[in-house]
Amino acid sequence: METKQLSLGKYSMGVGDRFGRQTRAQLQACIQALGQGVEIVPVWNKSNREHALIGSEPLSARLAADAAVKALQWKLPYFVDADHISLRTVERFLPACDFYTIDVADFIGQPAPPATIEAFVGRHPELLEPIALPGTGEAFTLSADALRAIAQKYLKAVVSAGEVCRTIAAAKGEGHFITEISMDETGSPQTPVELVVILAAIAGEGIPVQTIAPRFSGRFNKGVDYVGDVAQFEREFALDAAAIAHAVRYYRLPANLKLSVHSGSDKFSIYPAIHSVLKRFNAGVHLKTAGTTWLEEVIGLAEAGDDALELAKEIYAQAYALRDELCAPYATVIDIDPARLPSPDEVRGWTSQQYVSALRHERSNAAYNSHVRQLIHVGFKVAASMGSRYLDLLEAHESIVAKNVTENLYRRHIAPVFLGGEG
Ligand SMILES: [Zn+2]
Repeated sequence: METKQLSLGKYSMGVGDRFGRQTRAQLQACIQALGQGVEIVPVWNKSNREHALIGSEPLSARLAADAAVKALQWKLPYFVDADHISLRTVERFLPACDFYTIDVADFIGQPAPPATIEAFVGRHPELLEPIALPGTGEAFTLSADALRAIAQKYLKAVVSAGEVCRTIAAAKGEGHFITEISMDETGSPQTPVELVVILAAIAGEGIPVQTIAPRFSGRFNKGVDYVGDVAQFEREFALDAAAIAHAVRYYRLPANLKLSVHSGSDKFSIYPAIHSVLKRFNAGVHLKTAGTTWLEEVIGLAEAGDDALELAKEIYAQAYALRDELCAPYATVIDIDPARLPSPDEVRGWTSQQYVSALRHERSNAAYNSHVRQLIHVGFKVAASMGSRYLDLLEAHESIVAKNVTENLYRRHIAPVFLGGEG
């Protein structure tokens, strides 16, 4: 890594903009944070799946991000993320993106050749010594068999990440992009000691990883709060942060390597835990959000009333009718109880306020309905199919939509995670 490496700041936030209309409103939230003295690097992320569902191209995300940065005179770094890519899908992202989330989940559990595993174990006698994770009071000792089992489970995934990384480097040049490795879309959480072993392997592959997204315990459903044991999450998050600090020192990984929290939007009950770990370890984090912004578009339209409210109701009705199809690709990351979904007829009778109260993520509001929220979350395809009818109304009500988008990111996400307050 002799070449100058593009570097991701300590605090960064993934923002997703399904229809490419909210980049300024999103950037405005980072500008507000900067006004409070906290620098948060915006990273506009869009996955291949999202591009496919909407029919958009990676270049559109780049153009929208560049335009917002120019319009609001943002002088700090920002990135455009090829989200959850693999060797199969990376190609189309190469011209437009400078941040790559390499998804290796599909390879987890596929065994590497025995010789590769033995060579890895032979190169890493230190992994058989007690591994003390500073600042946590905890230490782990791996037997040779346990180390082999971890290598067996993860080595192939890491090797595949190396391959993707070299493909990107060949196209963009070493150091001209940020590398994230994601392992979140897999069956079981990685333990902190597994994370140390994985990072040792990543260093061995020469991958300049700057963020890593493990799967944490508990449920990270789309657009709604965390479901799980918050105290256990905090302990795990702290151990992961310590595992990263240990691996950075020991394996000379990039000094700014940090955790990335995927499906990170709306996880209000763990934000205080994340904030306290960041302070305790002087660590950074990448908080990845996406669909929460699309939900604010619908909220803004509902709030605007009249024809915009009618369109919001139509989005609900269509999403309700298509719910099996819309939910299928997200089956593992949503929990919708059909009995808790109001009928489209009932929703047709709602006022602006009723619609907004059901959809807006205010846990203290008794009318908030997480089932409606999750259904609309996966329903963006409905709006995509409406084409200019949807986009024209977004434009007509730009200020009210933008206000919701900015406030959601700043007050509900940035403030509790990065500023440690209510915003
Ligand atoms: Zn993810």
